[in-house]
Amino acid sequence: MIRAKGFQRAGIILIILMSILSFGISQSKQEGTMMSKENTGNKTEAEWQKELSTEVYQILREKGTERAFSGKYDEHFEAGVYLCVGCGDTLYTSETKYNSGCGWPAFSDGITGKIDEFEDNSFGMRRTEITCANCGGHLGHVFNDGPKPTGLRHCVNSASLKFSPSEESK
Ligand SMILES: [Zn+2]
Repeated sequence: MIRAKGFQRAGIILIILMSILSFGISQSKQEGTMMSKENTGNKTEAEWQKELSTEVYQILREKGTERAFSGKYDEHFEAGVYLCVGCGDTLYTSETKYNSGCGWPAFSDGITGKIDEFEDNSFGMRRTEITCANCGGHLGHVFNDGPKPTGLRHCVNSASLKFSPSEESK
């Protein structure tokens, strides 16, 4: 009986601890910068799911990552622009695309105002997530090991992009 009470008390303490912890998490979410989840591109997740393929949905809406060296734009260097696969907004130009060797399309910069950045502490890493500013679609992450002059490496999933060739190269 004493043992059982001890367990019961431990259980209650655990519940209290967990509620304090989850309260803390929800508090920090509200105080922190706007969460990328808030931008749904005026569509419900069910609508996105219907519109996109399973793979693209998992990456664009659920922040997944395609396998390294598997994406169609990793080794793609034609002249043109890269659009958001979710909403069609222009995000990157081929002038900023370079071969980083990391296994994903890499850009030294995005088109000004088209890309939002968010702090991402998932998987025990401190990273900066990048999303389409228009529809909130997950693109990838931005790192500070890119070429000059920006020093940035926008590491983007091919699945989040749609290439549109420039007029001259058509
Ligand atoms: Zn978009």
